[in-house]
Amino acid sequence: MPYEQPLKKAYFLPSHILLLDDAVRLAEDIISDYFSLTTDYWIRNPYEVRTLRQANTVDTPERVYAHLTKYGKILSQKDSGTDDRYLYRIQIYDHRILEVTQGLKEVLRPFLVYIMTHELVHITRFSRFECLVDKEDKVMEEEKVHNITNKILSRVPIPRLGDIIEFFKREDRVRLAV
Ligand SMILES: [Zn+2]
Repeated sequence: MPYEQPLKKAYFLPSHILLLDDAVRLAEDIISDYFSLTTDYWIRNPYEVRTLRQANTVDTPERVYAHLTKYGKILSQKDSGTDDRYLYRIQIYDHRILEVTQGLKEVLRPFLVYIMTHELVHITRFSRFECLVDKEDKVMEEEKVHNITNKILSRVPIPRLGDIIEFFKREDRVRLAV
C-alpha cells in the first residue's frame, strides 16, 4: 500500500467511560469467581486503568487496543522484604476501540468486558506466579491468556459477547499486548 490514511485520534466520551468502569467491575467479579480469589485480592494486587486522555503518548503500537505494564514493588512495602508486590497499569487505546466498535454501546460494552477480562487474567497469572514474564515466552503466555479468557467468557451471559469472542479468535493476537 503506497499510502495509509492516518488514524483520527478520538477519546472516550463520558458515556464510554461509564461503560469502561462498568466493564472493570464486571471483569473483576468474573475473574474473582473463576479463580476463587479472596475479597481483598484486588487491593493486594492493585492496578490502574488509564484511557488515552491520561496517557503521555498516543504513539500506540499498530492495531493494539490495550496494553498492560507491570511495575516494581510498591514504595511503602519496599522495605518489608516479605513479599513481592507489583503495580499494574492497563492503558486503553480509546481511538482504536472506537474505530472498531463505532462507539456503539451494545458493541462497546462486551468489547470492554473482553479486554478487561483478558488483562485481569494476565495480572492474576503474574501474581500467582503462573507466569514468570522474564523467563516465559511471551507468545506462549499470550496464547494461554487468550484461551483462558475465551473459556471464562463463554459462560458469561452478556449480549453480543459471543460475537466479540469470535472477533478476537479471528484477530491477530498482538491486538491485546501484554
Ligand atoms: Zn494479553
